[in-house]
Amino acid sequence: MWVLQDIPMDRVAKYMAGKGIRSLKGAEMDAASWYRVLDSGFAAGLLRSRSEPSNPEKGITYATNKPNTYDLWYPGAHFPLITSELWEAYKRKRCPEDYDSELSGFVRETEPKYGLSGLVRCGNIRDNGEICLAIMTASVTKYKSKYGTYHTDIWRCSRYVRSKQCRAISVTRPKAETEVLKWLDANSKHSETGEVAMKRAATAARAGDQAAEVKKEIQRLKEKLDRALEGYLDKIISPEDYLNKKEELEGQLEVRVSRLRLLNSEVAANQTPGADAFGTLLELWPKMEEYEKRAGAKKVISYLLVTPTPGRAPNKLTIVPRWEANQEALAGAGAPVNQEPMVA
Ligand SMILES: [Zn+2]
Repeated sequence: MWVLQDIPMDRVAKYMAGKGIRSLKGAEMDAASWYRVLDSGFAAGLLRSRSEPSNPEKGITYATNKPNTYDLWYPGAHFPLITSELWEAYKRKRCPEDYDSELSGFVRETEPKYGLSGLVRCGNIRDNGEICLAIMTASVTKYKSKYGTYHTDIWRCSRYVRSKQCRAISVTRPKAETEVLKWLDANSKHSETGEVAMKRAATAARAGDQAAEVKKEIQRLKEKLDRALEGYLDKIISPEDYLNKKEELEGQLEVRVSRLRLLNSEVAANQTPGADAFGTLLELWPKMEEYEKRAGAKKVISYLLVTPTPGRAPNKLTIVPRWEANQEALAGAGAPVNQEPMVA
């Protein structure tokens, strides 16, 4: 349950250890051991296996033991402790790459250091004319002034830190947090009964309709793939024709699956909470722990963009809300639907 609420696994592990829960061998369990237990599906009443077991001699190895590396699942003789819905939701979190919706997010292995960790991005325009968008990472920097030496947390462009292939764009943590609080305050005062709410509802509805269309197209393409396979198995089409057709159809499928993913996140983003939720977040912020701040901020903010300004003026901070972030990506991925008749 906690994992689904973005509570870091090492915190869950500490809590369970504090409750005196130990492994069968009596050891204290860390985050990795909890993942091992949860990944097994045992709690959902399942036993798992692989049709191709790991065999390094034959070159069969698995990088992880996550649920998506097992293809055979059997109901065990034991009684399930969790519902199959909860198990599905866990898998969604654990293996987001297997699911269409970007909603699933991911499970953090360790606790984020700051409430805005991973949410601050570099807005510098690079030499190639493209916006950097690299995640900015925080570090403690020593400051010397006439008042003495003190320390502050500064976020820098990770691309610059890593390879110097950007500029030394930075912003201090207090400034970023202040901007977020101001933004939450402004949003908490806007009643969502107005224009914004209607725009968002309309966007969500439109994206939902489009997603339904794309789903149908995906279904049709899958049926075509099946028919092509049947034709090949019945020796109606040649192996070459089949492979060509398969490649073509799979290419079309791929485009639609990524579009569906975007549309789904568009729907989700436009279902972000109303004005009262911003107020609640604002009110709770000072009392929240960093991981809670992060989970809260992620619900409404896609990222904070730090853009350099000319001269000695401080960098500009723009908050990109969840409900706006997907517009550009959607326009890019909106490949026209190919309706050419296909022979299968
Ligand atoms: Zn950068």
